[in-house]
Amino acid sequence: MAVRVYELSKKLGISNKELVDLLKEHGYTLTSIAVVPDEAVKLIETSHEKKAPVQPEKRENPPVRASEPSQPEPQKVIAPKKEEPKTLQIAIKHAAPRPATKSQQPQPQEAEAHPAEISIVPMTVADIAHKARKQVSEVMLTLLKMGVVATKNQMLAEKNVAELARQYGLTVVTKAPVQAKEEKTAQVQEAGQWESRMPVVVVIGHVDHGKTTLLDFIRKTRVAAKEKGGITQHLGAYEVKTEKGNLVFLDTPGHEAFTLMRARGIKVADIAILVVAADDGVMPQTVDAIKRAKLAEIPIIVALNKIDKATPAQIETAKRQLAQHDLTPEEWGGDTVCLPISAKLGTGIDELLDVIVLQSQLMDLKANISIPARGFVLESTVEKGRGPVATVICQHGILKVGDYFTAGNATGRISSLVNSAGKRIQEVPPSVPVLVAGFSELPHAGDAFEVTTQQAIRKGGVKAPSKTAEIMSKTGTEESEIALIVKADNASSREAVAHGLSQLKSSHRTLSLVYTGVGDISESDIILAADTGAIIYGFHVKVQPHAADLVHKKGVEIKSFDIIYKLIEDVEQLLEAGKPVKMVSKKIGEAIVLKVFDIKGLGIIAGAQVKTGRFIRDGKVIIWRGKHKVGEGSIKGLQRDRKPVKEVHTGFECAFLVDGFDAWEVDDRVECFQEVPA
Ligand code: GDP
Repeated sequence: MAVRVYELSKKLGISNKELVDLLKEHGYTLTSIAVVPDEAVKLIETSHEKKAPVQPEKRENPPVRASEPSQPEPQKVIAPKKEEPKTLQIAIKHAAPRPATKSQQPQPQEAEAHPAEISIVPMTVADIAHKARKQVSEVMLTLLKMGVVATKNQMLAEKNVAELARQYGLTVVTKAPVQAKEEKTAQVQEAGQWESRMPVVVVIGHVDHGKTTLLDFIRKTRVAAKEKGGITQHLGAYEVKTEKGNLVFLDTPGHEAFTLMRARGIKVADIAILVVAADDGVMPQTVDAIKRAKLAEIPIIVALNKIDKATPAQIETAKRQLAQHDLTPEEWGGDTVCLPISAKLGTGIDELLDVIVLQSQLMDLKANISIPARGFVLESTVEKGRGPVATVICQHGILKVGDYFTAGNATGRISSLVNSAGKRIQEVPPSVPVLVAGFSELPHAGDAFEVTTQQAIRKGGVKAPSKTAEIMSKTGTEESEIALIVKADNASSREAVAHGLSQLKSSHRTLSLVYTGVGDISESDIILAADTGAIIYGFHVKVQPHAADLVHKKGVEIKSFDIIYKLIEDVEQLLEAGKPVKMVSKKIGEAIVLKVFDIKGLGIIAGAQVKTGRFIRDGKVIIWRGKHKVGEGSIKGLQRDRKPVKEVHTGFECAFLVDGFDAWEVDDRVECFQEVPA
């Protein structure tokens, strides 16, 4: 009976990837992860066993002949490797006469008729025997010694062809330059550095079938929470690390972006996990989910959930229903992997993750990291102080702070990248979800995201990064002016807005009212805004039709409001954005030194009792002796009962080292300070 790929790899004690490579070596290219036919299993098992010990040379046919002819029959799930166009083809020439062997049957005529110049594309054992003027059995024996079991008509990987050429003393030469040039041209489109990327996985299925429970279980058990901080930033996707490989899960079942991806022509997920409650079977939303995944042309792996409470009969019914929807389980002769799991108890999850990793390895997901980054917007929101932000996942390229981009109707320049641990990072590789700030306006889930140049944004008619986004992203260390144009529907509302704005104060930014007027926003307002770098605030007004076209061209930002205080609040937010936080030192505790220890290798440690307040790790201290200040520094290590602690409260004894002071004496008075926002 045929076995599943991951079962076979487990049995052989090799990784799925190694197994897939081994199968490739034997001329098999897997198209599905479901099953490996008997014949290939035998071949692989024998080959794997043979790899370690070198077989004694035998004249008789190697045992594999028993299974000959064993060229893999084309099957649904596994197909012989097709010849693929190679970028570098090589030819083999006879270099020197080979030492004759007893069994050798030279075929001089054939050799003459076929000058030994062949391309090293995958070729059969018979082909290479012919070219090398060897008997098929001899080539098979050589291969066996190399750890490769191959039959007469079996395709050999070019790696093995090259090795045989070496062993038979054939010369390997590169192909004629003309053809090489053609191939180079074909290669140009693909030029660049390609690297493997993690698959993005979406969980789909009917309501209440356990999608959220599954995602929660994986997040809790598999996300590297031990890594500092764990997940602190909601990104709508999270990375899962497994021994076999890493994955990215969209953390909302049937994510909106996934739903929209077809409409926008973007591939958000690479693999879909269809959760079907085994006790409930295929339901309307299951059918809908299957349709969407099929339209998206992504592989579906079925997780038959709730097996802890489903009866065997219910499980069979669910499988039958799946088969009716073109997802025939492998044990029924189909090619759909259907794994029994319990999301609640965690049963079968390891195997599920293994299968997803294997599926992704078969898909050989690669990213070209040399081209400008591009991907899609997963989610977006407006964050106070940061303006519009979005989670972006790139499929190609490295995304960097400072990159100019377009995303749907929005444009911008990346002012910050924040990862799932809430940490600011400078760049991010493909498939890793990241929070991007610097958008001109709020993009939509499923929007294409593309890095471009500043010139393209300026020239190409796409809007320049919004003034708001720029202001929001500034660090606030510099004094800057915010220029505004206000257009209101009548004179009294214009007065009200102007008055409201005049009340706003900011210590680090000034507000400049370039112009206030009554009436819809006109072409001349746009031109004025473009010339002065102002943002136009509209109150109860529209943009005149001609002016609307110009907005885009000039890259002017218009903000419309119907409520005055909302308009004022918005400007206030701009003024406050990036405001440097002033820190002050606040005394938080006092202690008296009771003992002084000189510990070799560590330094001089003060043993003290906290008299008031508290002492904190990394706190700043001032040391007093009587009325004299004798030193200051910061606490390097704070311990209580010989254990490192974050803080020690009134009445407790503690020990600490101070960076910058070690002339301790008993009865020294120590004041502890903490930096707090003013
Ligand atoms: P969703 O709507 O598909 O996201 O489904 P939920 O994850 O919210 O699960 C619906 C209900 O099924 C909840 O009460 C879960 O506790 C329960 N549930 C989920 N997985 C399992 C499971 O493996 N076994 C059992 N017995 N209950 C489960």
